[in-house]
Amino acid sequence: MIAGLGEVLTDAKKDNRAIAGLVCLGWEDMRAYVKAAELENQPIIIQAGPSCRRHTPLRVLGPMMSYLAEEASVPVVVHLDHGANIDECRQAIASGFSSVMYDGSRLPLKENIKATRAVVELAHEKGISVEGEIGFVGYAEGEVSATTDPEEAALFAKETGIDAMAISVGNVHLQLDSETELDEQVIQEIQSLTDTPLVIHGGSGVPVSQRAKLAASSNICKYNIGTELRSLFGSELRGLLDQNSEIFDRVQILSSVESRLIEGARSVLRSLSNG
Ligand SMILES: [Zn+2]
Repeated sequence: MIAGLGEVLTDAKKDNRAIAGLVCLGWEDMRAYVKAAELENQPIIIQAGPSCRRHTPLRVLGPMMSYLAEEASVPVVVHLDHGANIDECRQAIASGFSSVMYDGSRLPLKENIKATRAVVELAHEKGISVEGEIGFVGYAEGEVSATTDPEEAALFAKETGIDAMAISVGNVHLQLDSETELDEQVIQEIQSLTDTPLVIHGGSGVPVSQRAKLAASSNICKYNIGTELRSLFGSELRGLLDQNSEIFDRVQILSSVESRLIEGARSVLRSLSNG
């Protein structure tokens, strides 16, 4: 069933666990992730980020993802990741997304509040959830992070009315190893000032044990996971083709990789609910 981000994260916070926001690039991975959620009997967030949208238009992604969500036996949030502006959020909502992230994290605080609030007004009127970002989560070998200021976070949550808040507490996008510890002191300070469910982008870079511990014991209710499953997909595909030089059919190739992707996603889901 298709679900909103707000309701899924509120339940996760109550149950002391976190929900995986899995980064999708196409039909095979989004289908595998929904299957993994059904097998684990857990809600899931499937999300389309900027590189997915450069490859496939939003108007195509919306029906694909909402079809999978509607057919699923567990709650599935269809989420726009890093919406660049209000028009992109509007287009995602019109295409069937049940949740949008508007990323105003490169803007000064006042402008970020103003632009995020406009997206919240547009989305909430249609029953759609919104994730915002405060502080700036940087990129491995790219832009540098700016740690979230707890007081700014509290003001941002209150003034915008967002359903979920992405924070920068040591996390970095696109990391290939998982050795970057989150700053638990800053997380504590943020959640002492606001109840809004917290989101960690760059979840692949966080040690699995800390991910699980904070899923169970903090207000972190959503971890975005991309790199570790994209890298699993790449290595499984490479191995399959190396060992079967005669295979050429796209459906046959991708079907073989999909079962490994389901297993990989299941272990991510398990690590967030058993902490
Ligand atoms: Zn992100």
